[in-house]
Amino acid sequence: MTSRLNLVILGIQGAGKGTQCKRLSATYVIPHISTGDILRAAIKDKTELGFEVESILAQGGLVSDDLVNRLVEERFKQADAAKGALLDGFPRTIGQAEALDAILGDDGVKLCINLDAPIELVTDRLSRRRVCQECGHIYRDTDEAATSGECALCGGPVIQRADDTADSIRQRLSLYERDTAPLLHYYEERGLLVTLDADQSVDEVTAEIEKILAERGLV
Ligand code: AMP
Repeated sequence: MTSRLNLVILGIQGAGKGTQCKRLSATYVIPHISTGDILRAAIKDKTELGFEVESILAQGGLVSDDLVNRLVEERFKQADAAKGALLDGFPRTIGQAEALDAILGDDGVKLCINLDAPIELVTDRLSRRRVCQECGHIYRDTDEAATSGECALCGGPVIQRADDTADSIRQRLSLYERDTAPLLHYYEERGLLVTLDADQSVDEVTAEIEKILAERGLV
């Protein structure tokens, strides 16, 4: 059996995880699994799950481990994840990392790529971020699509995320330090951690990731 390319993309909010995952997903033909995207889609579709999590997301809190673990377990049962996946925003706690190991079994996480960015940079990026509600493409507030409110790729509405407000950004960054930063140690101990400087152009970060994957014989 060929081994699956299961990659965890770690990094503070605004480090560029979503942008890199979209590119890598197209290159390696594996799905981009973002628990944040799954939860936002549920809110937009007004499902039971959406109602349950809406206020938690708006305040920048964390949804329970049990709930997101179940979502990820279900997602991995879909056929497109048979060759692996790019995980973005999951795991976010040690409990979730352990659950992920259990979900994946022997053919588990191959690498954890940590996109390292200074707090000032991500605070600025998050407050200026605009996103297409249809395709998820990310813009800056000064981009034409952001000022016109229409996505240049799919024509969908370009909005500011409900949790990209100053209070919510502060809360999310502090939860990152408390709950998610310990994951660096978790993956380092297992010899799976690579840290990259995310304060570079999108192309430069993508090129570095591709080089590391090739050097490690993962692609
Ligand atoms: P993100 O798009 O990854 O920034 O996630 C947006 C929001 O969704 C977070 O601030 C949390 O409220 C929730 N969320 C996403 N992924 C997780 C997770 N793995 N564990 C708990 N909450 C999550």
